Order: sequence, then C-alpha cells, then structure tokens
Amino acid sequence: MSPGTPHGPGGGPDGGSVAGSVAGYVVPTDDHHVHSTFSDDARSTPEENLAAARERGLRSIRMVDHVRTSTTYVPDFLAAVAALPPVDGLEVVTGVEAKLLDTAGAVDAPAEVLARVGGPDGPGRVLLADHQLPGPDGPLSPRAVRELLDGGLARSAPVEMLVASYLRAVEGCGPAQLAHPFSILPKIGLTEDDVGEDHLAALADAALAHDVVVEVNEKWCCPGPRIVAALADRGVRLVASSDAHHADDVGRYAWLRGTAGGRSGGLAGEEAR
Ligand SMILES: [Zn+2]
Ligand SMILES: [Zn+2]
Repeated sequence: MSPGTPHGPGGGPDGGSVAGSVAGYVVPTDDHHVHSTFSDDARSTPEENLAAARERGLRSIRMVDHVRTSTTYVPDFLAAVAALPPVDGLEVVTGVEAKLLDTAGAVDAPAEVLARVGGPDGPGRVLLADHQLPGPDGPLSPRAVRELLDGGLARSAPVEMLVASYLRAVEGCGPAQLAHPFSILPKIGLTEDDVGEDHLAALADAALAHDVVVEVNEKWCCPGPRIVAALADRGVRLVASSDAHHADDVGRYAWLRGTAGGRSGGLAGEEAR
C-alpha cells in the first residue's frame, strides 16, 4: 500500500484494531527516528543500527540523536554517519531531536546546529519533541502541568500551548519533523481527544507551508488514528518511526502494525530531556 492510502477507520486486516488503522498511512520499510550512542540513553552505534536496517530490508533510516543548547557532538555525529559504508537500496539521512521550550517556539538546540538544518553540512531535519510542555515562560514538567490543572488551569490550555509552540517552532527552523506528537498528553491526564479539529487544521497548514513531516511513533504509540487521518487527509506526509534506542528495535513496528495490544509506553527518562 502506498503512503497516504488509508485503510479507513477499523479497516485494517483485523477489522477492529485501533492501532492497525494507522499502518496504511506510513511506509513501514522506513524508520525515521533511530538513536545511537551519541545519545546518552541509547546503546547501539550507528554501524550497528545500519546493520539492523540492512538485515530488516529497510529502504530508509534517519539517524537521530538528542541535543540540548549545550551539545557539542553534532559535527562528530554527522561525520560518523557520513563515514558509514553505503548499503544498496538503503537511504541514510540524519536529524537531531530537541525539546520544545516555550510557546514562542524556542527549541533546545545549539543555534549553529539549527542554522544548518537541511543544509549541506547540517542535520537533515530537526525533530521537535514534546518531552515537556512548552509553556509561556519555558518548559513545564508533566508533574508541574498536572498540578496546574489540579489548581484550575483550563483543560484546553496545555494543548493550546503545545500547538502554539509547534506552529512557531516550524516557522523558525529548517525542515522539521514532529517527534512523537502529543506524547505528553497521557502524562498530564489528557488524551488526543483534547486536540481539536482547529488545532489539526492549523498544524497541517503549517506542515505543508514549512516542509514538516509528522511521525507515527512506535515507542510512544502516537499519534492515534484520528490525528493521523486528519493530517493525512490534508496532505501532510506521515513517517514511520521506531524511536529505537537499541538496534534490536530498528524498523520494528508491533503497535503501528496493529499486532501489539494497548500502549507500550516509553521510557520515563524522556521527561527530563
Ligand atoms: Zn523523544
Ligand atoms: Zn527519540
């Protein structure tokens, strides 16, 4: 099935799997989010991830590592990926994953790296991550957001903040990829049902205007079928991503293919990034 050709709701082979209905929107022989030992919480080298991609017959792999404003390894990371031996039929591209900091769209990455995203000597994409909630005055941990909600913050406010941050960030960055979009919602007691159609329309417009792709993320099991369909129907490109932190997980999509039950969840440590 070609990307963007939906199964339709409940139209997967098993007829009823919620997760299964996202599979038709992405190319499962791609993996657009794979970490290496350049990330302090990942365990496989770029060489090992490349070997896994080759073994699994992937056609594209995006090697990505976590950055902060203080990160200095990006030139070494890009050189290591560039030095990998070519594999027939496998495209190797790069990215850096950075957290959204605030509703003005600030991104936790070195300015010189952000300035080179999409250029000949920079990472191919910047992956914009909702590891914390980008608030008006800076990132808020899930716990802080839950306390604000308990204290009377409107239930609609966190999604408004996150969408505002996405919209502003993609205007100011080179080519971007939304990393596990809305993964923070379950951590703060909300769900994807709290994301309105107006939010999705605005996100789709911004994605199309600024060369943004949106992940369907295996590790975090998000976004779900409604958001995937809403974005795809507006022409947004969706990409499969394992968010692998070990070569064993490269290109493996049990949830995305609808063969795993429930949410597999992610690593708690991501909240602190
Ligand atoms: Zn992440
Ligand atoms: Zn990641």
